[in-house]
Amino acid sequence: MKRLFATTFLLLLLSACSSDSEDFNGDETQYQTIYRIPVVVHIVHNGEAVGSGANISYAQIQSQIEVLNEDFRRRIGSNGFNENEAGADTLIEFFLATEDPNGSALEEPGIDRVDGGRSEWPKGFLRNPIETSLKPFTIWDPEKYFNIWTVNFGGFASRDLLGYAQFPDESGLPGLNVDNGPDNTDGIVIGYKYFGSSEKGNFPDMIAPYDLGRTTTHEVGHWLGLRHIWGDGDCTYDDYCLDTPLSAEPSYGCPVDKITCTELEMIENYMDYTDDGCMNVFTLDQMDRMHTVLETCPRRKELVVLAQEPLY
Ligand SMILES: [Zn+2]
Repeated sequence: MKRLFATTFLLLLLSACSSDSEDFNGDETQYQTIYRIPVVVHIVHNGEAVGSGANISYAQIQSQIEVLNEDFRRRIGSNGFNENEAGADTLIEFFLATEDPNGSALEEPGIDRVDGGRSEWPKGFLRNPIETSLKPFTIWDPEKYFNIWTVNFGGFASRDLLGYAQFPDESGLPGLNVDNGPDNTDGIVIGYKYFGSSEKGNFPDMIAPYDLGRTTTHEVGHWLGLRHIWGDGDCTYDDYCLDTPLSAEPSYGCPVDKITCTELEMIENYMDYTDDGCMNVFTLDQMDRMHTVLETCPRRKELVVLAQEPLY
């Protein structure tokens, strides 16, 4: 009896040790899910050589993708990092597509160079060649690619335009219509002088203070269902995110300590109109809206490539 007891005890001890040891050395790493989105950039030019004028370089495109990933992932050590208590790593990333719509490898990943046959692209209510001709004729399958067009805006109505986006359809989110436009115009359009980051290369046509890639971060926010933080109205209008304080108007420049409603405004939010160097925050509620869009909406949910990343 004594012996048996001793053996049992030893076995228990062994098993306890072995279990401890397993816990210590075993794979306890936790993972988080990343939403990855394939991108094609249609570089619309007027016959310029690659790297000059509106026919922007591959390096300029890459610098923009880097900025998107820094901003959406709140990367430490980048302009996209913040220590705001409402600030989010949105777990959304972007990558340049490796194949064209026929399945052939792209010489320049994620790039489609288009000679648009004109030097300026107006976006007026009466004449709107971007929506009526450019996009429908150049778009790649919006269930396989997130389409971005870079153009030289121009004409009376778009002299000061930096970029614009098409909202997602059927999100069920407050503040968004069910239908926001045809399939064949889905995506965002950015002025080529505001696409990329002048901190990441020599891109002499870029114009400060909109030369750090935040026009695109802002438009991607719209494309993923975010409204402006001032709700496009006075203090009675909201952006449907509780963690972005109310604001009565857009902010320009970098006006710290600004209050137009009751609380300090979040002028550093990407969904305001402040200078590129002033912005560095997407909030947790904004992240939730974007995740809803990526899980729900046509031409969004089909795009997502899920990836697992160790959580440290
Ligand atoms: Zn906007």
